[in-house]
Amino acid sequence: MYRMIRMLDQSPEVSFLLDSEHRIIYTNPAWDLFAEANGAPQLAGETAIGSNFFDSIPKVLKPVYMRAFKQVAKTGLIWEKTYKWSSPEHARRFRMKVYFLERRNWFLVTNSLLVERPHRNIHGTDSDTYFSRGIITMCAHCRCSKRVDGSNRWDFVPEYVRLKGLQALKISHGLCSICQAHFYPHLDSAR
Ligand SMILES: [Zn+2]
Repeated sequence: MYRMIRMLDQSPEVSFLLDSEHRIIYTNPAWDLFAEANGAPQLAGETAIGSNFFDSIPKVLKPVYMRAFKQVAKTGLIWEKTYKWSSPEHARRFRMKVYFLERRNWFLVTNSLLVERPHRNIHGTDSDTYFSRGIITMCAHCRCSKRVDGSNRWDFVPEYVRLKGLQALKISHGLCSICQAHFYPHLDSAR
């Protein structure tokens, strides 16, 4: 175990350990760097320790991850998923791997950065376009905001992603049609 922690301390992959109840018991230095770079210094260091991993996942995506952890614990096989985790400035794609550490019933989660580039299509804030009764519907996965004109168009509005981090914005999480089709095809009740 100590050897593994030493390895994770050096790893550029954003990694953490969960106990059998899915509580975060260790985060590596790459996690701290990532949290700070993403305007979430409150998650750096010891502060995430003890919190439940599933509490950080939007409700709409929870079933996928709960199922995955169950499967990993049952089979011992590594589970992998590509997902988006964009900041206001950069579109990013990560590969998550979940390992089961059988001797302790713990989970190791690693996230390696696959792609990072500036956003290509960004939109400005406009309360008439995105707000309905003071609430924005944001894709839980790509963080695009849904237009309220019934067109089912979702736009990346950096300012809303920024405000979301500060919890200054009322957001209801959904899943845009692209993310549903490409990343969560088995999540029927997503929207
Ligand atoms: Zn999306």
